[in-house]
Amino acid sequence: MTVREISLVPDEVLRRKAHPVKKFDDTLQALIDDMVDTMRDAPGVGLAAPQVGISERVIVVEYAEPKEVKDSEEPEVVEPKLYVLVNPEIKRKSQETILGIEGCLSVPNLVGEVDRSLSVTVKGQNRYGQPLRIKAGGWLARIFQHEIDHLDGILYTDRAEQVWVPEEPVEDKV
Ligand code: ZN
Repeated sequence: MTVREISLVPDEVLRRKAHPVKKFDDTLQALIDDMVDTMRDAPGVGLAAPQVGISERVIVVEYAEPKEVKDSEEPEVVEPKLYVLVNPEIKRKSQETILGIEGCLSVPNLVGEVDRSLSVTVKGQNRYGQPLRIKAGGWLARIFQHEIDHLDGILYTDRAEQVWVPEEPVEDKV
């Protein structure tokens, strides 16, 4: 497994519409393993194949969704969950949207406020080509929307109402 170089703006690979994956072969398995390594190394909570220079419809997401706890309870330590999605598509998204601050591994030293659907249903395939369906809400829903945008050549800066240079580096880059 290898950490690959992350493509940065204005690399045109970030602006291309990525190709659907048709072959679930060893090359794809190596790409996915490398993408997971690259995401963890960055560190980030999501990565799309164009961000490592490969114009194919593959995303990886690793995020620990916080559980809701009552004030009196100790917050639970939540293990991050890894999602690998090939040919992902947003099948449903909530009308209700929410503003959140995003940073992107391919757009250094910037953050922006982006309006996204509060919840989404994502359909796709796992790394072996089997169908997969994920319902996500909150920050996880935001990560999926950001990563799937990457597959269509869209950057969060295209959608942001404003972008700025943060005083401190942001966590959870995607
Ligand atoms: Zn990004």
